[in-house]
Amino acid sequence: MTPDWLIVGAGFTGCVLAERLAAAGKRVTLVDRRPHLGGNAYDALDAHGVLIHPYGPHIFHTQSQAVWDYLSRFTTWRPYEHRVLAEVDGRLIPLPFNLTALRACFPGSDLEDRLLVRFGAGARVPILKLREEPDFAELAEWIYQRVFLPYTLKQWGVGPEELDPGVTGRVPVVLSEDDRYFPDRFQAMPAQGYTAMFERMVAGIDVRLGVDFLAGGLAYDRLVFTGPIDAYFGFKHGHLPYRSLNFAHEHRDVEWVQPVAVVNFPQAPAITRRTEFKHLTGQVAPGTSLCLETPLAHEDGVTEPYYPLAAPGPRAMLARYREEAAAVAPRVMFAGRLADYQYYNMDQVVARALTLAASL
Ligand code: UDP
Repeated sequence: MTPDWLIVGAGFTGCVLAERLAAAGKRVTLVDRRPHLGGNAYDALDAHGVLIHPYGPHIFHTQSQAVWDYLSRFTTWRPYEHRVLAEVDGRLIPLPFNLTALRACFPGSDLEDRLLVRFGAGARVPILKLREEPDFAELAEWIYQRVFLPYTLKQWGVGPEELDPGVTGRVPVVLSEDDRYFPDRFQAMPAQGYTAMFERMVAGIDVRLGVDFLAGGLAYDRLVFTGPIDAYFGFKHGHLPYRSLNFAHEHRDVEWVQPVAVVNFPQAPAITRRTEFKHLTGQVAPGTSLCLETPLAHEDGVTEPYYPLAAPGPRAMLARYREEAAAVAPRVMFAGRLADYQYYNMDQVVARALTLAASL
């Protein structure tokens, strides 16, 4: 039987939409070309029985009560506040760069007092803003050259100033001792993992994994496509730029390798960060599993498109794809990080899917 709605992609966007539309009494089919639910937020036990995120660390955080309440219908939570250290000039400092990092890197300086007078206690100052302040030029340059420039060049293939300011603004300089990576009100990990949460969301829905929609042959009345918008339209206006990542997973027979879940290596030649999953999940195990990320350019059919490039460059091409999308709406709708071509966090994707579902 032809479904009312075919949802392509079983990541956050697709699972939320499938759940909402099915709850509204629609016949829904959810397909994904990968053999598992959850998109890049999928988690699973590795060969050593350690719960890992095969597509890199996913840490849930949101300011939205509505998003929190919605997801809480499908999971309980493990309280978890994310902390990141960066290895800079051979020593580990808190990231975001905060007052603790400032005192460690500039002992005895008057910078702290001057920053607090200029910006106020607790301020969160994007590095690109700090660089515009003549009084703090030396400090800003020190942080920029060590933390932001080399990391960003690796992560995106371009420098911070070629990206939307919001990208490096995600990790501001923080004028307090708060060393949490996210300031959000709600931060936690799904207690049994993301995959278990997605399984509960789509329970009772017709889910077909390992099915490539773009290969053709699937019938539908209406469609939500959550994959790359350029791929949907056969790349007719060209290939939008995405960044990809290589994940090198490893297991070590020691209990812990690093003091926090994520250590960033801005100054290393190729890798950006290393994640030790047990810190995230709270799992107790004698060994430990880690993942090293090396960013690379995305090539369609070869690598996975993880990040849309948040930069002015692709906007003209994106506008042409959005015109195509408007022409096929409302029978075909687009949503999600790849279909909207937006550097969304998980909670933003959930909010987007909830809003779209309500409008449908
Ligand atoms: N960033 C950086 N150095 C770091 C951490 C982050 O320059 O040590 C910049 C970089 O441009 C990165 C952006 O801040 O892409 C956002 O970092 P975030 O950790 O939020 O990225 P994600 O977890 O989404 O990959």
